[in-house]
Amino acid sequence: MEENRAFHAMEGAEAVHLLQSDKEQGLQPGDAAVRLRSYGKNEIRRGKRKNWLQKFLAQFSDVMVIILLVSAAVSYAAARFSGEDGSVDAVIILLIVVVNAVIGTVQESRAEHAIDALRKLSSPKATVMRGGRRCTVLGSDVVPGDIVLLSAGDVVPADLRLLSATDLKVEESSLTGESEPSSKSTHTCAENAPLAERNSMAFASTGVVTGHGVGVAVATGMHTAVGKVAAMLAEEEAPKTPLQERMEKTGRVLALAVLAVCAVIFFMGLLRRSAPLEMLLLSVSLAVAAIPEGMTAVITIVMALGVSRMAKKRAIVRRLPAVETLGSTTVICSDKTGTLTQNRMTVVRVADAEGAQPPESEAAREILTLSAVCTNCTEDDGDLLGEPTETALVRAGGERLASLHAVCPRVAEFPFSSVRKRMTVAVKHGNGLRLICKGAPEVVLQRCTRVLLHGGIRPLEPALRRRLLQENTAMARSALRVLAVAVKDCTSMPANEEDAENDLIFCGLIAMEDPPRPEVKTAVTRCRKAGITPIMITGDNGATAAAIAAQIGLDDSGKVVTGAELDRMNEAELQRCAGECRVFARVSPEHKMRLVKALRARGEVVAMTGDGVNDAPALKAADIGCAMGRGGTEVAKSAADMVLTDDNFATIVEAVREGRGVYRNICRTVHFLLSSNIGEILLIFSAYLLGIPVPLSAIQLLWVNLVTDSFPALALGVEPIAGDVMEQPPVKNNRSIFSGGAGLSMVVEGSLIGALALLAYSIGRVWFDVDPNFPQIGSTMAFAVLGLSQLVHAFNMRSEGSVLAMGLFTNAKLNLACGFCAVLQLAVVVVPTFAGLFGTVMLGPVQWLVVAVLSVVPLLVCELEKKLTGKA
Ligand code: ATP
Repeated sequence: MEENRAFHAMEGAEAVHLLQSDKEQGLQPGDAAVRLRSYGKNEIRRGKRKNWLQKFLAQFSDVMVIILLVSAAVSYAAARFSGEDGSVDAVIILLIVVVNAVIGTVQESRAEHAIDALRKLSSPKATVMRGGRRCTVLGSDVVPGDIVLLSAGDVVPADLRLLSATDLKVEESSLTGESEPSSKSTHTCAENAPLAERNSMAFASTGVVTGHGVGVAVATGMHTAVGKVAAMLAEEEAPKTPLQERMEKTGRVLALAVLAVCAVIFFMGLLRRSAPLEMLLLSVSLAVAAIPEGMTAVITIVMALGVSRMAKKRAIVRRLPAVETLGSTTVICSDKTGTLTQNRMTVVRVADAEGAQPPESEAAREILTLSAVCTNCTEDDGDLLGEPTETALVRAGGERLASLHAVCPRVAEFPFSSVRKRMTVAVKHGNGLRLICKGAPEVVLQRCTRVLLHGGIRPLEPALRRRLLQENTAMARSALRVLAVAVKDCTSMPANEEDAENDLIFCGLIAMEDPPRPEVKTAVTRCRKAGITPIMITGDNGATAAAIAAQIGLDDSGKVVTGAELDRMNEAELQRCAGECRVFARVSPEHKMRLVKALRARGEVVAMTGDGVNDAPALKAADIGCAMGRGGTEVAKSAADMVLTDDNFATIVEAVREGRGVYRNICRTVHFLLSSNIGEILLIFSAYLLGIPVPLSAIQLLWVNLVTDSFPALALGVEPIAGDVMEQPPVKNNRSIFSGGAGLSMVVEGSLIGALALLAYSIGRVWFDVDPNFPQIGSTMAFAVLGLSQLVHAFNMRSEGSVLAMGLFTNAKLNLACGFCAVLQLAVVVVPTFAGLFGTVMLGPVQWLVVAVLSVVPLLVCELEKKLTGKA
């Protein structure tokens, strides 16, 4: 197998030969497809997945379910022993447990599928040569032998033997623990070199920090270095969200409380000389019914459904906990270019040291041509490809790239980065070299000592420098993005970047228009209403930033804090400034990181956008890191919690809206489940306290629980988002679901449901049953009211305000779920066979009327309560 060979110790050409590939052409597409089938997907599998049967069986590992099954078996055996049949109850219990397990399995699989879909959506891309063409493929489709092209910001898709490397530095900390990026080359390494010293290799899942290179894939998937490490790790569980963790803890406390109540009921029953086995079965059934064991699964599903809705709205959530955090976001820090603006650049003004020049003039053309040479644009079938700032320059220059490159072949490049804010290329010029530098005017002018003026090269006097900077600011104030162009000729290549980029000759300024996205202004207003502060953090000029901020309504104070000013602040000042200022300009990724930390220290929940490889730490540090799907690097995407496929600020705001909706729906579901369970417990417990016969049998209890806990709870989880969700302040990140009176409401509403069922029981028992000690009608009425009132109560959960006012039946899924469950519940009473099995009896019209009236009471009481508390 290829992975056993020491590729790092052999020449690149030999590796290509061994892998039967071609350095220039890459693999033929057909060959790649064949290899994909034989080598498998280039994916890291973590541990084994449970299959359907294993998942199903795992549903029975719950202690209470086991006790229930054992109790059912024991009472069946005891009944047989005493000559009775006893099989009906045992079979029904078994059936209910199995149906519950099926529902649990389906829920678990759905949640798993949703998470898998997430992984797929956010799978990184790779650039490879296939059949002589450069193409972008999914990282998972890379096969051994593929010729992979790497550039800054890429995540290395497979283990590669490098065939070329230009200033290539790769961050390998995930693999080697070394945080400094390691320089790569094509030289062979010693066969026994440790992983960290195999410089001729680039390893899968590491990130390219600078430079570019080409490599041949020598190992993919589980055969890569990282795959081997992953294989040693235990299965990686989907991370739990803070809310899920809190709910699990709460669930455990509730379970203990329920068990205590059940134990009390059991012993009280014994004291009253009830049959011990019957008591055991009843109290265990009550425990099974009332312990909210399915709560975390429901929360996962509600979140996962939210995630798929968000994906349709162009926000791909990579980590489930992000959905919840999104809802509590208080600050959105956004880049300007491409996120708040359209990233559709058009050159609108050109100026040289003599002043503005018409774009068609000779002087302007020369400046534009120089700038076009200093770009990394490419052409594919006549289409101009590249970064929008650069394509705008080439378009404005009006010359074909091919002819530019033929006249000025490139010798070297000092690439652009948002820290350097400039880019320089060296091209052949006569017998020597010409260095062309373009970048932020303040930065480029600092490196200029001379200027092109009146057809000659003159020293750049302080007065002229000031005037040029003023010209730059004037253009920036009109919301334009300005670049400066400078050159110098030399006979040989300067030793380093510093030598190359000084003593330059200033040629001119180029200003580009990049209009704000039309939807951003509304999104900013929505943020404000929702109690979220939008902040602009941009690498661009302060005046441009302030002008755009005013145009989109983000800030019209004109106040801008620059990266240089941030550098001078101590932590306390920085925190104050982060709380007060809305526009930060000329920042580098390091400043973004400091700002995120300062904002978080102020207690804010921060969403932060980023695209570059250097943005990854800030994206990780933010509560919600948002990477750009179109313009962003793979490294930024893999560090982010969410990827915006349209790079749009408005999409973040929409995702926050969804996040809030999801949070509310989870609260509704939990509220519903718990109040229903409280009702069930109270019904049984109070009957014991009152010394009357137990209202429901074990199987009736289990049935009610099955009917109410399943579909209605899920349907509540997909309640459409209320119109006012973005008109309220954000919910605190660590706020308990029980705070703000919600806990009390659950208890009160649960008590109401329990009391109504008890009332139905008492009415039936006292007025309609022939023998109050054998209350079949009372019991049936209690059974019907307990189930139906819970279904009615589900509608109360739809809104904090009046549900009657919003339209009771506007959630079609809830209508369907509750309708279906009501039919199931009634079937047990009206269908004779079921009635026989469950021990219910047919009710008369008056009794049905009582059931109907009592069942709608929760709706009336809750509406009244909402009215009295001013919510409706
Ligand atoms: P944002 O941070 O909002 O995305 P930005 O794109 O302006 O804004 P950077 O990419 O950090 O931020 O760019 C900073 C500055 O560097 C720009 O204002 C511009 O002057 C200059 N610049 C941008 N792109 C290039 C490039 N390709 N070559 C040279 N200079 C550039």
